[in-house]
Amino acid sequence: MITRVLTSKLPNVGTTIFTVMSKLAADLGAINLSQGFPDFDCDPALVEAVARYMREGRNQYAPMQGVPALRQAIAAKYNALYGSSYDADTDITVTSGGTEAIFDAVACIVRPGDEVIVFEPCYDSYVPAIELNGGTAVVVSLRYPDYAFPWDEVRAAITPRTRMIMLNTPLNPAAVILTAADIRELIAIVDGTDITIVSDEVYEHIVFDGAPHESMARHAVLRDRSFVVGSFGKTYSVTGWKMGYVAAPAPLTAEFRKAHQFVTFSSFTPVQYAFADFLNERRGWPELSAFYQRKRDLFLDLLKGSHWKPLPSRGTYFQLLDYSAITDEKDMDFALRLTREHGVASIPTSAFLYKQSAPPVLRFCFAKKDETLEKACEKLRVL
Ligand code: PMP
Repeated sequence: MITRVLTSKLPNVGTTIFTVMSKLAADLGAINLSQGFPDFDCDPALVEAVARYMREGRNQYAPMQGVPALRQAIAAKYNALYGSSYDADTDITVTSGGTEAIFDAVACIVRPGDEVIVFEPCYDSYVPAIELNGGTAVVVSLRYPDYAFPWDEVRAAITPRTRMIMLNTPLNPAAVILTAADIRELIAIVDGTDITIVSDEVYEHIVFDGAPHESMARHAVLRDRSFVVGSFGKTYSVTGWKMGYVAAPAPLTAEFRKAHQFVTFSSFTPVQYAFADFLNERRGWPELSAFYQRKRDLFLDLLKGSHWKPLPSRGTYFQLLDYSAITDEKDMDFALRLTREHGVASIPTSAFLYKQSAPPVLRFCFAKKDETLEKACEKLRVL
């Protein structure tokens, strides 16, 4: 009787691999280097600040677009870091996580029949967001093993129906970043077109080896057409709070807010006041790249001399490891066996792929206590 309703709008989507691997790790007591979240706690002062704002009665709906103090702090940070001139009132919106920001940006722009270019491997919310809004994801594969952006293929993929390009820098799971040369190619492609950009920059403060973060906010041609997405969860080690934001020029923000106000309306109020204080005091984010670069280097040092071959990790808190010297199993089979038999959970990169066949690499999250990384590497080294 309700069969027509039950014809799935997302027939290829099941439970995400992150949920599957984290549950398996928990069930088996394995070390969980799969899902991307820290196993250490956030700054206790942040919890204290949130508690204080709750005690002070900041417990009702925040304004739909986010509390003014937080929007001002976000705009000030963008403008100082990237030379943009975002206006807190018209260009910045606070969301319930980066995921909501990505969904709203797609929902307010993409119509049935529109095409959206996405790069694989990609974060798994992009394609469902496009498809739920009636769009078609046009997948362009990054070139393995260096995961270079194939700009010639992007040019070839553009049609009169191309409405949007989805970008992610630093990129989960490949841990590559857009370079100045990539930005030049991108500008040449979109300049003079009506193509919009959703730029997922949730790892903007986790970029290694002194490289700059090439935010869309830095370049006028890109900024004018971009929704730039950030996440407090990543920056302040509070992924469970699901707090994000988007910066976009006023006409794009006006449309964005039409979607946002009917997806969540507004986000958790006391936390917004606490983040405003932390941003204004420049707490947390300035030292984040160095903090995670040390973790990356510790993880790689601990694996030196083993059969695991690291691919370069230039940003994010992920490290890809090539396992071709260990086994010729498919990545999913090996990831499951690694969890069951060796007690370390990872993510197979096939979970992020649509067209390309999966290379022999697994993704490991190094946002973990040093002792967790040490214990995990002890187990990984014996393979
Ligand atoms: N984009 C990427 C690339 C991510 O890795 C994540 C989190 N895993 C998100 C977006 C989602 O961020 P949030 O938790 O703030 O929704």
